[in-house]
Amino acid sequence: MSEKSPKVTDPVCGMTVDPAKAAARVEHEGRTYYFCSKYCAATFSATPENYASTVMS
Ligand SMILES: [Zn+2]
Repeated sequence: MSEKSPKVTDPVCGMTVDPAKAAARVEHEGRTYYFCSKYCAATFSATPENYASTVMS
């Protein structure tokens, strides 16, 4: 059994997000981050350095 769509974590609120269904995505330093909402994406975009390091996979 393998997961078809690996989940990612919304770095702002910590929610688990399905990349295929993410409400928003932001590219930062070569990585793509997924968000549960545009609000979280906007928060991330404002200060990505506050969040980018929290997601390691
Ligand atoms: Zn979120």
